[in-house]
Amino acid sequence: MEYQRLFDTFLDTMSEKGAIPYAIPYIIRLCDKLRVRKLMIKRYESRRHEIAGRSEDIMLYDSGKPCGEPKEYRHSAMTVTIANYFAYPGEGEEPWDETETERIDRLVAMLYIFNSRAKMLDMVIRAASYDDDGYYTLKYFLEYLNLKLVEGDIRGKYTFAYINLKHFSMVNQLIGRPMGTFVMKRYINEVTAIAGDTALAARIGGDNFVLMIENGCVNPVMNALSGLNIIYDVNTGEKIQISATAGMYRLTEDSTDNVDSIMDKLTAASHVARTSGKSDNVYFSESISISKERLALIQQLFPTALEKEEYLVYYQPKVSLRDGTLYGAEALCRWYHDGDIIPPLDFIPVLEHSMDICKLDFYMLDHVCRDIRRWLNEGRKVVRVSVNLSRKHMMDMDLLTRIIDIVDRNDVPHQYIEIELTETTTDVEFRDLKRVVSGLQAAGIYTSVDDFGIGYSSLNLIKEIPWDVIKVDRSFLPSDIEDEDSSRRAIMFKYVVAMAHEMGLECIAEGVETEQQVQVLRDNSCELAQGFYFDKPLPVKDFEQKLK
Ligand code: C2E
Ligand code: MG
Ligand code: MG
Repeated sequence: MEYQRLFDTFLDTMSEKGAIPYAIPYIIRLCDKLRVRKLMIKRYESRRHEIAGRSEDIMLYDSGKPCGEPKEYRHSAMTVTIANYFAYPGEGEEPWDETETERIDRLVAMLYIFNSRAKMLDMVIRAASYDDDGYYTLKYFLEYLNLKLVEGDIRGKYTFAYINLKHFSMVNQLIGRPMGTFVMKRYINEVTAIAGDTALAARIGGDNFVLMIENGCVNPVMNALSGLNIIYDVNTGEKIQISATAGMYRLTEDSTDNVDSIMDKLTAASHVARTSGKSDNVYFSESISISKERLALIQQLFPTALEKEEYLVYYQPKVSLRDGTLYGAEALCRWYHDGDIIPPLDFIPVLEHSMDICKLDFYMLDHVCRDIRRWLNEGRKVVRVSVNLSRKHMMDMDLLTRIIDIVDRNDVPHQYIEIELTETTTDVEFRDLKRVVSGLQAAGIYTSVDDFGIGYSSLNLIKEIPWDVIKVDRSFLPSDIEDEDSSRRAIMFKYVVAMAHEMGLECIAEGVETEQQVQVLRDNSCELAQGFYFDKPLPVKDFEQKLK
C-alpha cells in the first residue's frame, strides 16, 4: 500500500475507534515505511512527575534493530497529561530526508491529537457517569441496566442488591470523614470485585449503593456484606469492620421486570432489611411490596382521613433512670381507619412519596399543642413532647414560621416542644438542616437528632448543628442474640453517650426493651430511656394517667 493510503487508513481507524491500540498495525507499517526503528511515548501525570522522571512508558513500535539518537517531541496541554514522543532512526542508517521528516512529524502530531481526544472523551464520560467520589451514578446504572434488559442477556443470570452500610456515621466519627470516605470506597470496591467480573455498583446517595451480582457470586457477596475488615491506616495496619444490610432481588429467566420495577422491589426489600431488625439480608417477596394499588389508596384516602381526624396522637413516655420519673414523651402517629389501628410504617412511607407527609406532621404538631394547652389549663404536670418531622420539610423555606405559628396559636410555651429530625445524606440537606435547627434553637424550641447512628452523617452533624438531644438508635443496644457485632455495638454506644455528654447534649436511648439493656444504660451513664420496657406508645387518655 502506498504511504498516503496507509496514513489515511490509520486516520480513519483512529477516528472511528478513538484509541491508539486499534491503530497499532498501521503504526507499525507506517514506521517501517518511514524508517523509524522505534517509536515510544513517555507520559507524565504532571510537570512534577516530569521533573522527577516518573513517566509511564508506552512502546508503540520496536523493530528490534539498534537505534541512533531519537528525535524528540514534547506535548503538553491543560486537559491532558504531558507526553513526550521519541522517534528513533536506525543506527548508522542514512538520516531521514525532508519528506520522511515531515511525515514523521505529522504521524506524531496525529497520535498526540487522538490521544488528547480519547482522554477528553474519557473525561466527559466520567463526568456524566461518576459522582464526585468516583462512584458510578444511579443514572448511569439505570441506563446500563436498561440497555442490558433490552439486549436481553441478563435475565436468569444476575441478582441485585440495594446496600446500606451499617452505622456509617459511627465509622465517620471514629476515623474522621475523609478516612470514612476512603474506607467506604475500599469496601464497595471489594464487594464489587467479589460480585464477579461483570458486576456493577453505583451509588444511590450517602451510604446507599446498588449492586448487580453474578448469580454464582451471591454467597461470597453475602459474606462480605456481613462484615469485612478494611485497613484504613496503611502504616499501622489499623482496621475497621464494615458491614451492610441489603435488600435483594433475583432476576429470573421469565421475569417481565423493567428498570423501575426492579428498583421498586429493591427499595422495598431494603427498607425491610434496614428496619425489621430480624435479618440484614432480605429478598424481595410480594408481601413486602407496597403495591401500586395500596399506594394509590392511601394517597387517595388521605385528605378525607385528615379532615375527619382519623390520625391519632399516641404518646410514648420517656423516662429518667435516676428516679424513674416521667421525663417527656414522643408523639407517634396512628391511623384509625374502618375500626383498625394502622401503624405508621404502613402509611408514612407512602405519604413521603408526596408532600402529604408535611400536612400530617403539622396536623400532629397542632394536636400535640392542643393537648398540652388543655393539660396546662387543667393544671396537670406537663412534660416536653417531641414531634417527628419528615425530611421532606427541609426544602420548605417557611418551615420555621409555620412551626412557631402552630405553637403560638395554641399558646404553648416553646420549652414544651421538641422537634425530631433524622440524619442527612447530602451536603445540601446538611445546610438546610443547620438553618432549621438553628432557627428553632433561637425560638427556644428543642431539637433532637432521631435514630442517631444508623445514617451516614459524621461528627460534623453534631458539631456544627446546635442540637439539644441525641436519640441513639435501638440498634446500638445489646440484643438477645450474642454475635460478633455485640461488643462493637457496646463500644459505640459507650462512645456516643460520652460524646453527647461531653458536648453538653441530652442523650436518650430508644427501643429499650429489657432489664439487661437498662443496666447497659446505667453502666454508661445514659440517664434517659424510651422503650417497651417502660411503656408502649399510649393513647392520650392512658398517657394522661401518667401525668398525674
Ligand atoms: P421513630 O421516630 O424512631 O419512633 C420510635 C419508634 O420505635 C416507634 O415506632 C415506637 O413505637 C418504636 N419503639 C418504641 N419503643 C420500642 C421498643 O422498645 N422496641 C421496639 N422494637 N420499638 C420501639 P412507630 O410508632 O411504629 O413509628 C415508626 C416510625 O414512624 C417513627 O420512628 C417515625 O420515624 C415515624 N413516625 C411516627 N409518627 C410520625 C409522624 O407523626 N410524622 C413523621 N414524619 N414520622 C412519624
Ligand atoms: Mg422519632
Ligand atoms: Mg427513633
